[in-house]
Amino acid sequence: MPRVPFETRVESLMPAPNFMEMALDEARAAAARGEVPVGCVVVREGEIVARAGNRTLADKDPTAHAEMLAIRAAASALGSERLTGCDLYVTLEPCAMCAAAMSFARVRRLYFGAADPKGGAVENGGRFFAQPTCHHRPEVYGGISESDAAVLLRDFFAVRRA
Ligand SMILES: [Zn+2]
Repeated sequence: MPRVPFETRVESLMPAPNFMEMALDEARAAAARGEVPVGCVVVREGEIVARAGNRTLADKDPTAHAEMLAIRAAASALGSERLTGCDLYVTLEPCAMCAAAMSFARVRRLYFGAADPKGGAVENGGRFFAQPTCHHRPEVYGGISESDAAVLLRDFFAVRRA
């Protein structure tokens, strides 16, 4: 089971929506477009505010990572540059750029799927949130549905190498 702390609430008798599964749907859609399969959803008060998959090829934009697009869309939808009270679900450990954007946006919690030893900057690499120059740290929960996210990436790159 994933390492997720679930809040116990009286009203939570309904099954909680599986936001990581929705992020995985975005990752699958990205793969179908030939993009690196990473997907992201931004959630506030149990509702999806924004969702996105990688679009670096489609947009010819090296910053068009799923998290950046979802953060921009969420900020636009909420009419604020701060995503106060928002939680972000992403299928892969964020890179340094996306971790910085989450910090600037004041994201409350980050849930990510597979760790990314090559490009991640949360548990790997520069560990952005652990640096003294990082002024807002979301609560971080890794390893959520990590096998699904990892299989998606592995299959994508296996096909490309074949
Ligand atoms: Zn990124």
